[in-house]
Amino acid sequence: MTDPSPAVVDWLGRLVALDTTSRDSNLPLIDLVAGHARGLGLPVGVFPDADAIKANLLITVPDADGRTEGGVMLSGHSDVVPTDGQPWTSDPYTLTARDGLLYGRGTSDMKGFNAVVIAALERLAGTALTEPVHVALSYDEEVGCLGARPLVESLASAGIAPRVCFVGEPTSMRMIRGHKSINLLDARLYGVAAHSSLPTHGVNAIHYAADLVAYWRARCDAWRVDGPFDEAYPIPSTTGAVTMIAGGNGVNIVPALCTLTLEFRSIGTPEQDAAEIEAFRERCRVIEAAMRTEDATARVEVDVRAQTVGLDTPEDAAVVALGRELGLQVEPAKVTYGTEAGVYARAGISTVVCGPGDIAQAHKPDEFIDPAQLALCEAFVDRLIGHLRRY
Ligand SMILES: [Zn+2]
Repeated sequence: MTDPSPAVVDWLGRLVALDTTSRDSNLPLIDLVAGHARGLGLPVGVFPDADAIKANLLITVPDADGRTEGGVMLSGHSDVVPTDGQPWTSDPYTLTARDGLLYGRGTSDMKGFNAVVIAALERLAGTALTEPVHVALSYDEEVGCLGARPLVESLASAGIAPRVCFVGEPTSMRMIRGHKSINLLDARLYGVAAHSSLPTHGVNAIHYAADLVAYWRARCDAWRVDGPFDEAYPIPSTTGAVTMIAGGNGVNIVPALCTLTLEFRSIGTPEQDAAEIEAFRERCRVIEAAMRTEDATARVEVDVRAQTVGLDTPEDAAVVALGRELGLQVEPAKVTYGTEAGVYARAGISTVVCGPGDIAQAHKPDEFIDPAQLALCEAFVDRLIGHLRRY
């Protein structure tokens, strides 16, 4: 089978047509899918964010006895990255078939997966299941997996604890067990301006920021040299970088402000990541104390701008066994992009990343998906339904 069913292509067209760029509301998409599920008689939970501009969606197909405990979760995100400034050949919000491929924003990342799952709801609803199936659609994945954390809370408050989860990011339908965490930090150093001919009258924020850059570079070097190492990654250790720096506002002014953005992508645990961030804060406090020996008003502020939890699902995990039973293969390599899978794994759900399409197409102009990938994913979901059919 190389073609997906017309229902999948139809759903993909409807999802692509709704511009769900992360900065905007995802409610039109959530309402559309929730309405479809309600029409099938399925229990639906819509969980708005604090501003009620976005929402997570949770659809549960109970088992044949009406139970919702445990079960299999199929998880997607509803948002897409912007198309601003990208040269698209056709309208990114109109699903367009060209040269045997389907073009549109989100076709690979990850409305293709969502379309397959939504199109399967009718079959799921009509099947006597041995365990429940949960479909989760989150908001704001692309800007730091912001929706996944409240989604986990919503699952808990609804008394739903899935046994296993497939996160359908594009992996060409191979199971990916691991990715690094992502931690993005901002530091702002506030010195004191002065004429540059009188440097002792000010506090030079750039000079102190340079100390912080040197500290961070030493941490990056230490990870590279000393590990720990996981050879499944293209770069087998935790990595880090100072990615942005800005400071100064005149050639003859002692700079009063310097801002830094830095990151680290870790193969460690969330606790180890937290300790690394605390060590960075401590270094900032040391630098702040040094600045204050020059002027008591100097200060350093630190913010954690975004964090994505890493994923490290063992080879013998329940989700890997189920995936294998359903014909999926494990990708030996771990990946460098972050997903919501780490958040779900952290919540005790055995989770892998597996979905149709290629991550290489994600976020680019002329994003597309090969329909054969949708067909593979549809076949996987059909095998799952067959596996869970009671009689
Ligand atoms: Zn994605």
